Amino acid sequence: MKLVKKGDLEYYIFENLERAGVKHCFSTRLGGVSEGVYSSLNLAFREDKPENVIENYRIICEAIGTDSKNTVWTRQVHTDNVIEVTENDRGKGLFTERQAEGYDGIYTDKKDVVLTGFSADCVLLFFYAPDVKAVAMTHSGWRGTVLEIGGKTADILAKRYGADKSKILAGISPAIGKCCFQVDSPVVDEFSDKLPWSKDFITDDKTEEGKFFIDLHGINQRILENHGLSPENIENSRICTKCHPERFFSHRITGNARGSLAGLISL
Ligand SMILES: [Zn+2]
Repeated sequence: MKLVKKGDLEYYIFENLERAGVKHCFSTRLGGVSEGVYSSLNLAFREDKPENVIENYRIICEAIGTDSKNTVWTRQVHTDNVIEVTENDRGKGLFTERQAEGYDGIYTDKKDVVLTGFSADCVLLFFYAPDVKAVAMTHSGWRGTVLEIGGKTADILAKRYGADKSKILAGISPAIGKCCFQVDSPVVDEFSDKLPWSKDFITDDKTEEGKFFIDLHGINQRILENHGLSPENIENSRICTKCHPERFFSHRITGNARGSLAGLISL
């Protein structure tokens, strides 16, 4: 993954998706017009001024060669629900009411439909199936990771469009890293129950009794491999959002007093 700078604006792109000519980005908080805790590239309404959020989308969409009118949002609620959208859904969320309530994965094979995912520490997964020309964006926090929503998204691209999963290009976004993602044992129990192999990605916190560190970047990568993606087609950012608060919004640092990062992808 690499950083792109255009004036004050900074965002990340995956090199595998760039080589394939797929318009996409993972935002930083740098280069927008929002103020205070939303400073400056806040990409969700939250309690921010709507006109600033709309302007932020204009800025980031123009930078990646698309139009904010084409964005499609869903309401993410840590499920493993995945929904198909089309050109008829463009503008939902930013300009009109979002209709897809409770979906954490979104996909399309239509051009100029900008799939939008939101994050402030959670993993976003980017997908491009080159053989059938389809894209997907999946929000995979720890609950979605336990439910293997990334694997389910790849399965759906294969089932719905006939994509060859071994050819799918995937990107794993900046998210809270193993360095910082400290959890209690009930969270570890969920992983042990549903994904016994994930113990390889979980370690004890030696400094605090009953605390653990979980590697969401690593677990999501293994889920994609287990569902048929080729390791060489998965680009894992391994960037920690909590370690870089000047660059990313981090829920762990600020709680709800924050803006939101976004992942965008479009054919
Ligand atoms: Zn960290």
